[in-house]
Amino acid sequence: MRIFLLLTLTLNAYAGFEVGNGGGISENNILMAYRQLAKPLKFCLDFKLCFLSDRENQVLKKIYDTLEIEYGNSHQVVFKMEKEMPKGFFRDKYGNPRLAVTFSHTGSTIYFNRQLLYFSPGGKKRDISIETAFSILIHELGHHHDEADHTFLNDLGSKVVKYSLGKKWRLSPPSIPIFTEIVNIKFDKGNVSQDLVFIHDQLKSIDLTDKIKKIMKCETPKNQLLGFEVWQGSWMRITKGFQKIKLNLRSFCYSREASILKKREGDTILIGISTSYPNESTKLQITNLDLNYIECKEDLDKCLDHRIYYNLNKLGGNL
Ligand SMILES: [Zn+2]
Repeated sequence: MRIFLLLTLTLNAYAGFEVGNGGGISENNILMAYRQLAKPLKFCLDFKLCFLSDRENQVLKKIYDTLEIEYGNSHQVVFKMEKEMPKGFFRDKYGNPRLAVTFSHTGSTIYFNRQLLYFSPGGKKRDISIETAFSILIHELGHHHDEADHTFLNDLGSKVVKYSLGKKWRLSPPSIPIFTEIVNIKFDKGNVSQDLVFIHDQLKSIDLTDKIKKIMKCETPKNQLLGFEVWQGSWMRITKGFQKIKLNLRSFCYSREASILKKREGDTILIGISTSYPNESTKLQITNLDLNYIECKEDLDKCLDHRIYYNLNKLGGNL
């Protein structure tokens, strides 16, 4: 059986998961990581697979438990030039420039130094990846819990990133400045994971993860979709100003009735992307996206080719 589900979304409908703060990829990645931060933290806290010391575990738990309060500051992450801030604000005690600064209480604003988002202090060109953004945010939020040791917080941030994130890849079309970025977050001891799917144009990032999850199917409505991975993707150029991207999915479905976790393959998502250079802008922008979910065309048995018997109590929650 072949089922097509069509969901057409205009960009207005993306309010809330589009990041277009006038910045570039570094700002976007920092804001994406900020919004998704609970997921890697939960992985490390639930499964003890991140090799944290007791002290690291305690600090991470405090960060996780107070995320709601942090998010209560709706402008918690801001980007500033050094000259916009009091003299020395972005400097450490030796006068070296700092990438991020915050204060010591929960909910404090985290200031990012715009000068260092695209160039290292040594002047080398770079941008801030999602992994780096996760790690910096963990560091800064650690300061909100009386943790003043920068080296300790650096280690904590990099451990969480190293163990909770799996593969990451980018899919770029050959001729236009747009790319899709896929970052894998593991949970449930590696049996279940969730990819985060972002599309970036020259002005904004769009997080498609939840929209994709919303239109995916899990064999019967009784089964619960726990997460999905993209295992292959490709770009197709249809016409000028219109691109298509195809993502092959592997989903993790949980049957409460049978206490079975089912791994399902063969479903795809087609994303139609319209682009233009609006208002004589020199930046290419995505103006419209269509998400089109195509259910596995094979017999159900072939779609659900892995069945794993799994203890309900061990399932580590839902993304
Ligand atoms: Zn610090």
